[in-house]
Amino acid sequence: MSKEEIDLHAELKKYFGFSKFKGLQESVIRSLVRGDDTFVIMPTGGGKSLCYQLPALIKEGTAIIVSPLIALMKNQVDAIRAVSQHEGVAHVLNSSLNKTEIKQVKEDIKSGITKLLYVAPESLTKEENVEFLRSVPISFMAVDEAHCISEWGHDFRPEYRNLRHIIKRIGDNIPIIGLTATATPKVQEDILKSLDITGANTFKASFNRPNLYYEVRPKTKNVDSDIIRFIKQNEGKSGIVYCLSRKRVEELAQVLQVNGIKAVPYHAGLDAKTRVKHQDMFLMEDVDVVVATIAFGMGIDKPDVRFVIHHDIPKSIESYYQETGRAGRDGGEGHCLAFYAYKDIEKLEKFMAGKPVAEQEIGHALLQEVVAFAESSLSRRKFILHYFGEEFDNETGEGGDMDDNVRYPKKQFEAKDDVVI
Ligand code: ADP
Ligand code: MG
Repeated sequence: MSKEEIDLHAELKKYFGFSKFKGLQESVIRSLVRGDDTFVIMPTGGGKSLCYQLPALIKEGTAIIVSPLIALMKNQVDAIRAVSQHEGVAHVLNSSLNKTEIKQVKEDIKSGITKLLYVAPESLTKEENVEFLRSVPISFMAVDEAHCISEWGHDFRPEYRNLRHIIKRIGDNIPIIGLTATATPKVQEDILKSLDITGANTFKASFNRPNLYYEVRPKTKNVDSDIIRFIKQNEGKSGIVYCLSRKRVEELAQVLQVNGIKAVPYHAGLDAKTRVKHQDMFLMEDVDVVVATIAFGMGIDKPDVRFVIHHDIPKSIESYYQETGRAGRDGGEGHCLAFYAYKDIEKLEKFMAGKPVAEQEIGHALLQEVVAFAESSLSRRKFILHYFGEEFDNETGEGGDMDDNVRYPKKQFEAKDDVVI
């Protein structure tokens, strides 16, 4: 072990109390500490934050972390403060701060105390912030959730498009690290181009989740009873049921309650207090099931979610992967059950009708993949991993028999050797 290596482990232990790096973390951190542009593709829960947090704590200057969600930034800032001597080690710079608070943030940065500065892209575009950041030493720039840059990602945010331009204005030679859990080749290419880091060292972890069991069932008018039966067969286990609309969330939560299942609804139409309450009830296991729109899940880290049910099929394979990915984070059992009817695809197509043509085309292409996935009689896992640019062999790969099509091959379709998905 080289001297450098020993040091990184010591820093990891000192700041985070972990004795080992997870997956590719160490190589990523070395790349960034060296000052190279770096690109990280790791599934959710893979430990991406640490890939920039540790270098930020080690390196001279302040690291700027761009992240799309204020709630996530706050969580991270609290976590970093908890492991450090000084409150000012991490700050958020956003529109919610008053003048006194902004002054304090700037003073801490100037005095060199602040190692991590979290900013939303909107705040970064503000002229006064750019001017200020130009005048202080910046160690590197991290773009978390970097798929927001791409129209092919599941969460396109136009403000992300300007990041490269702003980074250039803040400083000429600032190393950049982009991080995402979206692994499609198109999105990756977009990120590298848009951030202008095509020469970046790229680190891609496997997206295989061997402990998840994937199943797709036809959606009939009895879908509610099917869901109730499934949940009752899994009594006492925690699970999430995703629905497309708030209305459906409310209705289904009620149906489950009436049937003796401890369930709460969660969607963006509920007031903040109720949302927090329902989320906590789920985390504390006062209820077993959350019926939710996609508003639920980002940044929620419940390790023992045992099933994720899709009452409605998601609008892309990425969304499906993200949402099902919330099951079995502890490595234990995770059953992913999606109900599919082509009629729902048509519904999703209709939602796109008013959107710009380019967006519709992308949306349509993503949906076609969902159709192919749902209607496929071949391995679900193989399909998903192939979609993410990863080859998977069901004979030798981990979790090779963990989906409905592999375990119970459909008789009506004879899968031929030459069928390629
Ligand atoms: P991502 O952003 O890739 O979804 P996070 O950065 O949120 O993942 O990390 C997921 C979890 O993994 C967190 O609870 C974090 O504390 C934990 N973690 C990260 N690195 C390590 C490590 N080296 N050892 C143990 N746990 C780790
Ligand atoms: Mg993350």
